Amino acid sequence: MARYIFVTGGVVSSLGKGLTSASLASLLQLRGYKVKIRKLDPYLNVDPGTMNPFEHGEVFVTDDGAETDLDLGHYERFTNRPATKEDNITTGQIYKDIIEKERRGEYLGSTVQIIPHVTNHIKKFISNKVSKEDFVICEIGGTVGDIESLPFLEAIRQFSNEEGRNKSLFIHLTLVPYIQASGELKTKPTQHSVKDLRSIGIQPDIIICRSEKNIPKEEKRKISLFCNVEPEHVIQSIDVKSIYEVPIKYDAEKLDKKILNIFGLKEKNKSNLKIWKDIVTKVNSKRKKVSIAIVGKYVDLKDAYKSLDEALIHGSLSNDVDLDAEWVDSKKINKNNVSKILKNYSAILIPGGFGVKGTEGKIEAIAYARKYKVPFFGICFGMQMAIIESARNVLGIKKATSSEFGNGGKHVIGLMQEWIKGKGIQKGSEKNLGGTMRLGSYKAKLKKNSLISKIYKSNLINERHRHRYEVNKNLKSKLEKKGLIFSGLSPDGSLPEAIELENHPWFIGVQFHPEFKSRPFAPHPLFSSFIKAAKNNSENKND
Ligand code: GLN
Repeated sequence: MARYIFVTGGVVSSLGKGLTSASLASLLQLRGYKVKIRKLDPYLNVDPGTMNPFEHGEVFVTDDGAETDLDLGHYERFTNRPATKEDNITTGQIYKDIIEKERRGEYLGSTVQIIPHVTNHIKKFISNKVSKEDFVICEIGGTVGDIESLPFLEAIRQFSNEEGRNKSLFIHLTLVPYIQASGELKTKPTQHSVKDLRSIGIQPDIIICRSEKNIPKEEKRKISLFCNVEPEHVIQSIDVKSIYEVPIKYDAEKLDKKILNIFGLKEKNKSNLKIWKDIVTKVNSKRKKVSIAIVGKYVDLKDAYKSLDEALIHGSLSNDVDLDAEWVDSKKINKNNVSKILKNYSAILIPGGFGVKGTEGKIEAIAYARKYKVPFFGICFGMQMAIIESARNVLGIKKATSSEFGNGGKHVIGLMQEWIKGKGIQKGSEKNLGGTMRLGSYKAKLKKNSLISKIYKSNLINERHRHRYEVNKNLKSKLEKKGLIFSGLSPDGSLPEAIELENHPWFIGVQFHPEFKSRPFAPHPLFSSFIKAAKNNSENKND
């Protein structure tokens, strides 16, 4: 029988509901329970695919091709359990489904309303395809008090009422700010936020208080009294240096144990935090610094490349280095200054991206990496730019470009239908931009004895994609004659999936996003190998 744990947030956003849910899932999993985590997002976009990642954060892609909230990335990395499209829903998706149903006449005769139609839809989502799980953790996006969250909160209230209180539990995450001037921690915002929650019928069972200082007993008692929760169910979540400490801190607060108690469940196994403790020991150990440049068009990002940041950390932990990954603005790079800007970095990475802005600088950075044998990793857009660079500077196709940037030039990157005619290959259209890219996991065959096949220790891989444009395969033989090998192809041979340069210590481009599958306990081999190459290069430099 599954138990449902609902995680809401109050006072301010960005308190770490995602990491709290992921950490709790990990703690329960480490005790031998089966856990599923889901996210309910209150915005009107059908999915985050069309949102600006620089405002909303990364779009995380699942194996089955859903474009989801970045929190699903945390869930996967902390639990090693692949998320699916059934694990994230938005208000936009709910309304879309309901309106489509209404148009098909499925509600004939009734007035379609928030209650019961929207709330029923949400309840169905929460328990959809739950079978063997012991726990389903549902994170509600947004902050209590927002107009947008109301239908979700109403739905989880109803759900808990219908399922029975012994089958569901509410965790509310709030902020307890520290006021420097008076030297005090303030509990009032928490009290107000819980009051809001209770006014819509939800009494939290556990309150988690995010704060920068230890919360003394007296403050916890105050929160307990005013918010009507037991004192030991007021739990602190102190700011930590590394996200990998979060499960350890929650274990110290006995969060998972208290949850088992509330449900009246016996502890299945003792908690075993070795995997997290090992990582934190590594993070805190003194390691050699290695600097790499991530060349992109926007540099003040935060969460826009969350999985990439994480995968780089995983790769550096496996190489015992302290990675300094600096974002370099590609809009500022040109032929004359490229070596000055990049000479102090031990490797260069060009991540996924969209649009023409800053591409010339990226191409200059790739030319520099190719000529001066600096380790280079091009991911998705980065691989496409590497093809343009070689087409221009090695094959002499001066006007080589991508049709993503407009009609001019020679399109060496383009929509499939632009360069394969009559082969029946259907690719996403440009007219409808939502959910029409090549999305999700696809297999690729790797060339025998290529560097990439050695890195994967396999000739067949399965990686996640999110792109609309493809490298024109017609260039394959010409580029290969010049040493740029097409080392990965789709199983039918039609789509270039990976490239690499001969006679170069480490120059790899991939059309997919390996960062989505990297885990703290199982760093992705491409990232481990790339950081190793950066480490070797930095040692050579210092010799
Ligand atoms: N803009 C490119 C495309 O759509 C690359 C996308 C990406 O890097 N994820 O193909």
